Amino acid sequence: MSSIRQLVFNPNLWQTVQATIFAKVHHEGFAFGLARPCRRNNGLAYVVECLLELEDADYEHRSGGGVTTTVTFSNRINQIAVDAAQQGLIPVHLHSHPAGVENFSGYDDRHEQILHHWLQGQAQPLLISLVQAVGSEPRARLWLQGRTEELMVRSGLQVFSSKSSAYLPALARQNIFGEGLRKAASQLQVAIVGVGGIGMLVAEQLARAGFTRFVLVDHDKVELSNLNRLPNLSQSDLGRLKVKAAKNLIQKASRAVGTNAQIHALPYDIYTAPKRVKNKVSQCDIILALTDNELSRISCLDMALDAGAEFLMAGVDIRLNTEGHIIGLFAEVSGAEQGRYCPLCTGRLDSGQASLDARQYVGGEVWDKAQTDGYIKGIPDPSVMSLNSIAAGAVVLEIQRRVAGLGVRDLWQLDYQTGELVTYDNIENHVNEECLVCNS
Ligand SMILES: [Zn+2]
Ligand SMILES: [Zn+2]
Repeated sequence: MSSIRQLVFNPNLWQTVQATIFAKVHHEGFAFGLARPCRRNNGLAYVVECLLELEDADYEHRSGGGVTTTVTFSNRINQIAVDAAQQGLIPVHLHSHPAGVENFSGYDDRHEQILHHWLQGQAQPLLISLVQAVGSEPRARLWLQGRTEELMVRSGLQVFSSKSSAYLPALARQNIFGEGLRKAASQLQVAIVGVGGIGMLVAEQLARAGFTRFVLVDHDKVELSNLNRLPNLSQSDLGRLKVKAAKNLIQKASRAVGTNAQIHALPYDIYTAPKRVKNKVSQCDIILALTDNELSRISCLDMALDAGAEFLMAGVDIRLNTEGHIIGLFAEVSGAEQGRYCPLCTGRLDSGQASLDARQYVGGEVWDKAQTDGYIKGIPDPSVMSLNSIAAGAVVLEIQRRVAGLGVRDLWQLDYQTGELVTYDNIENHVNEECLVCNS
C-alpha cells in the first residue's frame, strides 16, 4: 500500500485560511501556520494547529501578481518557524494565486528553496507550503532535504488535490456525493470502536459506500440476545468475536461493490487495550466511538483530539419512566473539533458516568450500585435494530455530507417518541481552558 502524506486542517481553521488568503478580491493573500506531524497507519498527517492572521500593515506589497510581507513580519515568522522546531512543529506558508494559476510559480520555487535552505541551517529541517488559485483546489508540498514532495490536502473529511480512485459501476447511485466521496473512501482509514448494534451497521454501510480501510475494536462476543440486531448473523455465529463477524461483513460488502478492503480486527476493550492497539486507532483519519459506555467514548475522543483525527460518536437511548414504560426513543450523533467544540464541555459526554464506568475494571460498590440503578432488574437493557439503524445511518450520512463538502454538524439528536429533533450546526467556542481533552 502506498504511503499517504497529507496536510490536514479542521474545517473551522480551513475557513479562516480561506478568509485570510482570499481577503482581497484582486490581490494575492498570505497566511502562516504551524503543523504537527502525526503518524497514520497509511502514512503521515501534518495537522495544522494554529494560524497567524496578517494585518494590512504586515504586507509590503500585494497585487494580482504577487505578495511580499514586511521585513519585520518576515523576521517574526522566521523566528517562530525556527523556535517551532524544538516542539517538533513545522512552519506552513499559505498563499493565493489569481484564477487559472493553479500551481506554484517559478518565483515560489526559488523563494521557498532559499527559505527552506536557511531554515535547515537553523535546525528546522522542514517547510510546508500551500498555494490555491481563486476558484480552484489547493495544492501543497513538503520541503525536505532540498526536495519537494506533494501533499494531499484535507479540510475535515473533505479531500482536495488528490487523485480519485477508479469509477466503480456498483457505486453509480452515490455519485451525487461527488469526487469527494470517492477520494475519501479510497484514502481515509476509519476506526470503528464498538462493532455492536450500531457499529456493525456502520461498518457495512461504509464498506458499501466504497470505504476500504478499517480498524475494528471490540472485545465482545456474539450472544443470543444480540441476534435481534446484528445484521447477517445466525446461531452458528454465537460465541464468535464481534470484530471477526464485522470483518466478514465488510469483506462481503467490499467484494460486492468491487473494492478490496484492508481490515484490522482487534479484539480488545479500548480502555484497557495495549498501546499498540490504541496506536492503531489513533493513527486512523476518522475515529468512530460506537460503544455503549462513556468511558470508551471519552478514550476515543481523547485519542482523536491528540492525533488530529476526526471524531464522531453515536448512540441510542430507550428511556423509561419509573414504571418501566417507554418515554423516549433517542438516536444521537455528535462530533468534536479541536479548538472549537468539545462534547465533554457541552455536556454531550458525561465524565461522571465515565468514572462510574471505570469502576467496573476495579470492582467496588459504586459500580454495583450503578448496575442495579440501570434498567429493570433481571431484564437486559433494551436495544433494537430499528433504532440502531437510525443512529448508524445518521453517522454514515454525516460522513457522506462532510466528504462532499456539505458542512459539519456538531450534534444531531432525534427523539422518535416525541418527534423532537435537535440539531446544532455550529457550536462556537465550546472549548474550556480547564478541560484536559479539548484544550490539549
Ligand atoms: Zn505563488
Ligand atoms: Zn472540553
